[in-house]
Amino acid sequence: MKVESLNEKIESSIDEALKLKQALLESQVENQFEARNLYDNCPLCASSKISKSAVGDCSKQWLYNPKLPTIMQWMNCEECDHQFIEGPYTDEALKIIFSKQPENQVLGYELENNRYISARIIEKVLQYKSNGVWLDIGFGNGSLLFTAQEFGFEPIGVDLRKDGVIGLQSLGIQAYCDLVQNIEFKKSISVVSMMDVLEHIPYPKEVLLAMHSKMDEDGCLLISCPNSESWVWKFRTRQNQNMYLNSIEHYHNFSRTRLASLLSECGFDMKKYGVSERYRSGMEIIAQKK
Ligand SMILES: [Zn+2]
Repeated sequence: MKVESLNEKIESSIDEALKLKQALLESQVENQFEARNLYDNCPLCASSKISKSAVGDCSKQWLYNPKLPTIMQWMNCEECDHQFIEGPYTDEALKIIFSKQPENQVLGYELENNRYISARIIEKVLQYKSNGVWLDIGFGNGSLLFTAQEFGFEPIGVDLRKDGVIGLQSLGIQAYCDLVQNIEFKKSISVVSMMDVLEHIPYPKEVLLAMHSKMDEDGCLLISCPNSESWVWKFRTRQNQNMYLNSIEHYHNFSRTRLASLLSECGFDMKKYGVSERYRSGMEIIAQKK
């Protein structure tokens, strides 16, 4: 084959590939829809003094789907200094995200290693509450509930992923697949745990107030989530390597300060601060009903 005709062939193949790439991009844009219901006000304090802050990119996230937007626009509240995403996902978008299940959320994932981590968490709670119903919201792989039962608690699980709920029920453990605000529990709850859950909830105050009304007088609340006041967070942000700004499922970036004031507004006292072993830059808070 002559060099010229070979060149022509290569060029036409490149043209073809570029056309295909463009068509693919256009079909992705066509497939995109309004994926978020934008917040008009701060989801914590309802102030309208909100403005755009950092921008993340969720396109490299495992749960990402080309139908969803890649840009994550974070907002800041001037009133209460809270950082939150521009809006929670619509039901349609949530269905797309929930169609995939991360491995670490599968019931029984790394059962033995997670048992040690869960036990260290539970031991911190024992000085405030040592028995009764332990409700885990977003129980994921179930480790915390399995281990809480070993310690003598009565476990109840709530999760929005159906497979996990069916799995837990099949083991004889009470479990619900619903928003926790909608569930009528037969007994008062002694411990409520929300491990890396609060940052996924569109309006966290609603849930905290609902839980307050369902708990014992001295009920104990256990929360873990990333802490935006940690130096790890600040350094990674400065280096443009803060993975939480790209976290596709997150709606909130809590600081220890804002979380403590939110808990207080909902009738809880922060009793203990700790560092979470579960995720990077994480904090683990124990609070109790006032
Ligand atoms: Zn606010």
